[in-house]
Amino acid sequence: MTIVVKIDRENIDEAIMIELSHIIKNNGTVVFPTETVYGLGANALSDIAVAKIFAAKGRPSDNPLIVHISNIEQLDRIVEIIPEKAKVLMDKFWPGPLTLLFKKKAVISDMITGGLDTVAVRMPSSKIALKLIEICDLPLVGPSANISGKPSPTTAEHVIKDLDGKVDAIIDGGDCEFGMESTVIDVLNETPMILRPGSITLEEIAEAINTVIYDPAMMHNTIIAKSPGQKYIHYAPKGEVYLYIGEADDIANAINQAAARFIDESNKVMILGTEENILNYKEGIILNLGSRTNPMEISSNLFSMLRKADELKADIILVEGVEEEGLGVAIMNRLKKASGGRIINCGDSA
Ligand code: AMP
Ligand code: MG
Repeated sequence: MTIVVKIDRENIDEAIMIELSHIIKNNGTVVFPTETVYGLGANALSDIAVAKIFAAKGRPSDNPLIVHISNIEQLDRIVEIIPEKAKVLMDKFWPGPLTLLFKKKAVISDMITGGLDTVAVRMPSSKIALKLIEICDLPLVGPSANISGKPSPTTAEHVIKDLDGKVDAIIDGGDCEFGMESTVIDVLNETPMILRPGSITLEEIAEAINTVIYDPAMMHNTIIAKSPGQKYIHYAPKGEVYLYIGEADDIANAINQAAARFIDESNKVMILGTEENILNYKEGIILNLGSRTNPMEISSNLFSMLRKADELKADIILVEGVEEEGLGVAIMNRLKKASGGRIINCGDSA
């Protein structure tokens, strides 16, 4: 049975958090809200607990987990050294949605890292997440609390849909602030590399450490990605997702034509459009992702709208792509994965 408890992030009930920490200490699983998405928490120092995470999510064993900490002493327990560049980034972005790779100590099992000798760590800024980790005084693994392959959960309702009966407890702490996962960065090599784009942009990181690039494999699916999770189809609703890229006007025309065709073939069609284009759409269930001038709005709406497609039993989901810069890189990374490669270039300019 899964217990669901509401916690007010501005007035955290310490007694309930202590109860929840007992579940973690006894190798159980507790879902907690973070500023990015909801995480599925368990003791990172226990193989029994970690195995439960992979089982609950149906996650492939070679897709490593991020370890969440609430203070630097916990980091020292699990990593060999903290490189200078990592210190600079931790100073600037922790607590917050940046995950860094470190050389792991032996206490971190291969099960967490998928056999890699590095461990991915972050310190979340969510008060509820920090409180839970602090009371447990343990590093916690915390992958997104969804069934593997589904869009990440940004509300407790999303988590309940996927994991009710499969985890011991779920903390309902309201909507997640960013709605997009953390950025994963590797600073262990000469040139720091973003392995997974996320809530912190390359531009923000470059302000702190000058040189930083995207893992070439992340942008071009032909090369093997350094971040194992990047190779899986992810974030996908049950219906087929088609991603349209190019100029906004061309996209609207192409989506309208496709919608008419799919509806003719008796499909239930959903359109995820941007505010600028929304009045141009004619048929289908039309949802507004947010303004092209406000990628933060689009990123925080994205997963819940992809989940809406399942709720409304859409067969076909036609999505407007956005510019691949800043937060748009992370948005497009998720949409490309959700589309499973169904990407349509519109107009001459694309
Ligand atoms: P999730 O837990 O769903 O947020 O996904 C975690 C992401 O972090 C996946 O894309 C993993 O591949 C990545 N990751 C975790 N640990 C490592 C590691 N040691 N090296 C590279 N990528 C990692
Ligand atoms: Mg995930």
